[in-house]
Amino acid sequence: MSEKPPRRIPVAVLGATGTVGQKFVRLLAEHPWFELMAVAASEQSAGRVYGEVVRWRETVPLAPRIAAMTVRRSAPPLDTPIVFSALDAGVAGPIEQAFAQAGAVVVTNTRTHRMEDDVPLMIPEINDDHLALLRRQREARAWSGGIVANPNCSTAALVLALAPLHRAFGVEKLFVSTMQAVSGAGYPGVASLDILGNVVPHIGGEEEKIERETCKILGAVETGRVTPASIVLSAHANRVPTVDGHLMTVSVGLGRRVSPAEAIVAMRDFRGSDRVRSLPSSPNPPVEVDERHDRPQPRLDLERGGGMAITVGRVRPCPLLDLRLVLLGHNTIRGAAGAGVQIAELLAAEGLA
Ligand code: NAP
Repeated sequence: MSEKPPRRIPVAVLGATGTVGQKFVRLLAEHPWFELMAVAASEQSAGRVYGEVVRWRETVPLAPRIAAMTVRRSAPPLDTPIVFSALDAGVAGPIEQAFAQAGAVVVTNTRTHRMEDDVPLMIPEINDDHLALLRRQREARAWSGGIVANPNCSTAALVLALAPLHRAFGVEKLFVSTMQAVSGAGYPGVASLDILGNVVPHIGGEEEKIERETCKILGAVETGRVTPASIVLSAHANRVPTVDGHLMTVSVGLGRRVSPAEAIVAMRDFRGSDRVRSLPSSPNPPVEVDERHDRPQPRLDLERGGGMAITVGRVRPCPLLDLRLVLLGHNTIRGAAGAGVQIAELLAAEGLA
């Protein structure tokens, strides 16, 4: 494991009452490196006791120490060097910038800053070198803190499966169709009468996010900026009546003919750098390949690697492109709070927070 900080680092969660915020609270309650010192949300929740205002949806009890906290306003100072943001995307921009300006490193789940040139958009196993952008960001914006983003929930799972294929064979074309769980829409999210016994073939902005973010994450950092990977992508996003876990069917066109067996070896062997591999939240391995004919399934495979590993199955030839496969990732862990915590661990290990 990466060297443990000498003392637990104080952290805060913005948007702590929401779906992703609650997942942060759960993951941070007993974290070996971080100590949750503040929870913040909207003006409607601020000043109230967290355990009374939150509609706790996690399946483990809320820790009494955190339940007793008073919810803070989402404005600096919260006196913690690391701030996790699970804010509603509509309000996140200026709030996150204010914290960065005030000296905190903001690890954000929101879409607001993801595509900005000087903001690292990170999956640590894949692009830990993109952290170099943080130095440029600090210089350009004259702030001592910073903003680092994790990807959109479906992109996070998709790119973990693609990265090994891209490294080994070069991904050129991609078709992906998602089946995304309702927790991806936050709480209370999609109305039950819209989703029970139904599929909604539209999630606002999701297809564009998958297409843009994938190319940035797989891009190369050159002279302080990311040159996006040149992949032609076609994404179709669908909301389905599962609670957690985004399942996706994918067809991929590669730089050369590749057998399913070769692709499986590349995915199974995929690992992050030694430093990333030894972070407390890093799953080992990050990509699990399950060759049973009817896997992965959200109900059975979601918790692998503590929700941080993705599962790939049904790797087979594709008559349209080269290979096709199915993948599954936990949207609120690998696609949100778990990803944020892992990034913060990397920042701590690198002495950047
Ligand atoms: P959510 O359940 O709707 O929670 C939103 C949070 O934002 C709540 O804590 C809410 O506090 C707070 N908030 C709303 N308006 C605010 C304001 N004006 N000032 C300060 N705080 C405010 O949403 P979510 O699903 O957790 O998503 C949070 C963020 O993560 C979003 O940007 C979303 O796009 C992103 N994300 C979500 C997922 C997922 O799977 N759900 C995955 C990746 C990324 P109150 O309770 O006080 O209103």
